[in-house]
Amino acid sequence: MWSSLRHLLFPPACCICQQPIAHDATLCRRCSQAITPLPQPRLCPRCALPLPEGALPGTCGSCLNDPPAHRRAVALYAYKEAVRDAILQWKLGGDERAIDWLLTVAGDTLRQTIQPHDLLIPIPMPLARMRRTGQHHAANLCRMIAAITGCRWEWRWLRRTGNQPRQSSLSHKERRNNLRRAFTLDTDHQPTLAGDATIWLVDDIMTTGATLHFAARTLARQHHASAALALARTLRKGG
Ligand SMILES: [Zn+2]
Ligand SMILES: [Zn+2]
Repeated sequence: MWSSLRHLLFPPACCICQQPIAHDATLCRRCSQAITPLPQPRLCPRCALPLPEGALPGTCGSCLNDPPAHRRAVALYAYKEAVRDAILQWKLGGDERAIDWLLTVAGDTLRQTIQPHDLLIPIPMPLARMRRTGQHHAANLCRMIAAITGCRWEWRWLRRTGNQPRQSSLSHKERRNNLRRAFTLDTDHQPTLAGDATIWLVDDIMTTGATLHFAARTLARQHHASAALALARTLRKGG
């Protein structure tokens, strides 16, 4: 009785687009159909951008010319449409259900990519922003991915230095200059790793890849190779 009354008062809605849905659903049909992971074999293994047909399999021209500091990059989704809306619901509205859905749908890719002895490291946020929002989205993402793959995660090793201004308010050149000295390693929290373990730098959205590159460079300076993992990636126009 209470259950049917509750559904009358608060009809169940899609956690992405808020359209009415069946009682036992999380997403509407349109959103769930729009959520399809990127086809990994068709992406450049260094920057996770789609490769042109003739370049498959292989590394894209821009990574050959100017390789990023991370050895490999994996993006689970293109940052657009229902995936973008799901991430915004999570980051702005605090609703984790859609992110759970994204990770469950991409579960096979995650389990094939990340081994149980690997380590996830969230891209650290500037402390001031973390204090303001009370959230560390990349760390939450690591926690959820670790639960799916059985691997470990450590958020204290890689640190942000200082309080950089919001990246979105800066020019491309200013962003790169800031990122160049944005990260440091806290040796007190350096984890021990199996010899063939991969260190995955994890971020929610990969845009130019510069943040992941400079985080990977910080690790590389201490002789730690790393790979990059993004929940979603912006694709080039037409890509
Ligand atoms: Zn929907
Ligand atoms: Zn590439």
